[in-house]
Amino acid sequence: MKDFDILLSPPDMDGVERELVNEAFDTNWIAPLGPHVESFEREFAAAVGSPEAVALSSGTAALHLALQLSGVAPGDDVLVSTLTFVASVNPIKYLGGTPVFVDSERQSWNLDPALVEEFLEARARRNQLPRAVVAVHLYGQSADLGRLQAACHKHGVALIEDAAEALGASYQNRNVGTVGHAGVFSFNGNKIITTSGGGMLVTANRDLAARARKLAAQAREPAAHYEHHEVGYNYRLSNLLAAVGRGQLRVLEKRVEARRSNFDRYRASLGGVSGIEFMPEAHWGRHSRWLTTLTIDPHEFGADREQIRLALADRRIEARPLWKPMHRQPVFEGCEAIGGSVAEHLFEQGLCLPSGSNLSETDIGRVAEAVLATKALSR
Ligand SMILES: *Cc1c(COP(=O)(O)O)cnc(C)c1O
Repeated sequence: MKDFDILLSPPDMDGVERELVNEAFDTNWIAPLGPHVESFEREFAAAVGSPEAVALSSGTAALHLALQLSGVAPGDDVLVSTLTFVASVNPIKYLGGTPVFVDSERQSWNLDPALVEEFLEARARRNQLPRAVVAVHLYGQSADLGRLQAACHKHGVALIEDAAEALGASYQNRNVGTVGHAGVFSFNGNKIITTSGGGMLVTANRDLAARARKLAAQAREPAAHYEHHEVGYNYRLSNLLAAVGRGQLRVLEKRVEARRSNFDRYRASLGGVSGIEFMPEAHWGRHSRWLTTLTIDPHEFGADREQIRLALADRRIEARPLWKPMHRQPVFEGCEAIGGSVAEHLFEQGLCLPSGSNLSETDIGRVAEAVLATKALSR
């Protein structure tokens, strides 16, 4: 039996995915690589406005390759948002790098550009610059890319965008993922579009894309006898899953609209309630509202985030705290953190509400009513 009637962010298939998968079956392309992979890459590149897109087995794999191809090697420091999912950080460790965690700013909840600028200036003076900066676009919202890019450019540091949660979001008139040296997307089951599992690396650098394709296919040299000059990975996406992805990509815009309209409905029901504040939409772009997230001030609201989450679970509604900051995770104990109090505060008070693109107006009403019921109880 399922624990929840209303899930946080379930898959939302349109129907056309099944036809495309059938086509893969009919032609017996049940393999990694194949015509759907090539089409998916081309269509994805066009959709986000990137010269190159490389389809991979996960967002984590895409980030691993992006970091490696940006030169991250053992001993290198890499700046990364502390308020994120652990997959933003693990690939830094795969490469023997050292994550340096940076706090969020309040406008977008993303990487604080002032802290990044200051850190890079200080490290440049000591001639100890980090190799890369990983900017995460949290919950569907772009980080302050203009300032981050300028700071990275000034010091010759690679900017990598972790856009796993933010397909469909923009920074000024550009899609997230296309501003930095490389951008990374995820098609995990809970993301805005899904292939059940998968990822994409985008870049304007044709050489980087070619290197990523090669490394993802066991670094095979072009020879019939399987020749290898370097260590590779098995990171390519399967043709079957690429078929699902092509179908999902066709309805991306509908999915973004549905997620944004979830947010509008939540805001209409809960926006005026004292103690509740929604994640802001920064002035520099479109928030995809992958997840609707809010903070609860327990003194003003009368119940805290955990009480609300448990009350929702009692009603079979799945909600989650925001990501626990990486500088507070035991696995990264001892790593340097620059600030961290904003992320900690967001974690303590933050809640993600059910946000699937297949959520009905009635579902949203049920969730909002359940949140309000915890307030009534507290009086
Ligand atoms: C989901 C996610 C990833 C990883 O994607 P996978 O496809 O699950 O490997 C990376 N970063 C962030 C911020 C994510 O939310």
